[in-house]
Amino acid sequence: VSRLVLVLGDQLSEDLAALREADPDRDVVVMAEVAAETGYAPHHPKKIALVLAAMRKFAARLRDQGWTVRYTQLDDTENAGSIPGELLRRAEETGISRVLATEPGEWRLIEALRDLPLDVTLREDDRFLCSHAQFQDWAKDRKSLRMEWFYRDMRRRTGLLMDGDQPEGGTWNYDSENRKPPPGGIGHSGPMKFTPDATVSEVLDLVEARFAGNFGTLRPFHFATDQAQARRALAQFIRYGLPEFGAYQDAMLDGEPFLNHALISPYLNIGLLSPLEVCRAAEAAYRRGEAPLNSVEGFIRQIIGWREYVRGIYFLEGPDYPRRNALNHQRKLPPLYWGAETKMRCLSRAVEQTRDEAYAHHIQRLMVTGNFGLIAGIDPAELHEWYLSVYADAFEWVEAPNTVGMSQFADGGILASKPYVSSGAYIDRMSDYCRPCAYKVKDKTGPEACPFNLLYWHFLTRHRARFERNPRMANMYRTWDRMKAPHRDTVLAEAEAFLDRLSAGKTV
Ligand code: FAD
Ligand code: SF4
Repeated sequence: VSRLVLVLGDQLSEDLAALREADPDRDVVVMAEVAAETGYAPHHPKKIALVLAAMRKFAARLRDQGWTVRYTQLDDTENAGSIPGELLRRAEETGISRVLATEPGEWRLIEALRDLPLDVTLREDDRFLCSHAQFQDWAKDRKSLRMEWFYRDMRRRTGLLMDGDQPEGGTWNYDSENRKPPPGGIGHSGPMKFTPDATVSEVLDLVEARFAGNFGTLRPFHFATDQAQARRALAQFIRYGLPEFGAYQDAMLDGEPFLNHALISPYLNIGLLSPLEVCRAAEAAYRRGEAPLNSVEGFIRQIIGWREYVRGIYFLEGPDYPRRNALNHQRKLPPLYWGAETKMRCLSRAVEQTRDEAYAHHIQRLMVTGNFGLIAGIDPAELHEWYLSVYADAFEWVEAPNTVGMSQFADGGILASKPYVSSGAYIDRMSDYCRPCAYKVKDKTGPEACPFNLLYWHFLTRHRARFERNPRMANMYRTWDRMKAPHRDTVLAEAEAFLDRLSAGKTV
């Protein structure tokens, strides 16, 4: 009997579980560009264009390989507007009522597929290296789910950077050699850029016409949109970016949005690259002596460690995870996140870059936009929607644990052992944002005091009961307690005044 084989926009891999199991002579692939997916968040136009262009090219490739593909474009008049709607329409059209799908990356769609009045089979998405069962098994009976322990298991399991049963070089983690302040400049031209072909150009016109109101600049558009291009982008990174990836992975430079980062998360997350091929390419560069161990280990850790780990947490914790708010933060997301003027240079640069590139690297997301959100007490659900919208790599399974868990501590500390908060000093050390800023990073109080300096202490005092017994935070409280009482009062009063201006919509 024939089946409808669903391929979603982030499942563009030829070895996808459902495609492996299906029969091109009998089964019918269903792919659909639908308003429910382009509209569940106000996605960045570049993100929509990336997914639609890559879907169209993937469908063409499947057809070339002999598959029958029923493909719905966003502006087709019969478009049912949602994935379940399209499956029902195709079922009626073909008379096929069995559906074979690969598990979607968010609860919303998993539930929608389960509710369909069709005979739906969901296969686990084995493009990830750690299955649900393996993660549950790892997490079972553990008091704390620290990434580092998970990562070591993944090294053993994949054999990546292993020397027998020992870690290559004798140490699991080389971060002590990483995290250097920014270099004066970057000695390579950054991620590979691709000129739009006919398919991409057509999609760009469609996105321009339909999503002009969304935050984000559509053109120029340079993302890879098929597997061959994504592999070239990966090769360029391995050659030019990887050697100094470790050293500069936490650095931020005003005029260098990408530094030594790979910009491959969009390709990994929609299926154009597989995690193992990426890690093997990095390991091979190390074995050839072209990239040092601290960089290669750090890079591989992000992928087989962090990326698999956050996905494990998302599925372990269940559908309510994105709505958690352990610190009860209620402030509305200020308009500066959507590009309204701010005098804070670090934030304005991170947001401008996000608008232009649909990209910011990890430390900008965590220690600039995330850190500010946390110390200013912004509602994590609003931040979640923002991150889910503005980045080309944002899909809920990876975005929500990073935002709600790692960056906002809104899961109460499942993912992070302490909140990622800092004063301006950290940003000053790791970037060149502070010198041209209207605020003075060295000022602790007063009209020009860096807002991070004020809000950092405001955060710590308002959550003292929760954090002061955390051994990793005791020092911070000791520093605060040693300050003179009038100074502490001034800091808190100025922080309050700043937050009032922020909430009143004033330019801060
Ligand atoms: P590189 O720095 O070159 O790292 C290589 C790869 O490692 C990345 O491509 C990515 O696949 C993986 N990786 C690194 N860190 C993480 C991490 N913390 N979680 C998962 N994978 C990781 N990543 C997303 O893919 N999608 C998101 O929606 C997303 N939202 C985030 C939100 C916040 C608040 C924070 C703090 C981080 C978020 N991240 C997200 C993680 C990380 O910032 C991006 O994966 C990374 O910036 C992607 O750029 P890159 O390819 O240049 O990464
Ligand atoms: Fe950001 Fe403060 Fe530095 Fe300005 S002084 S760039 S607000 S950290």
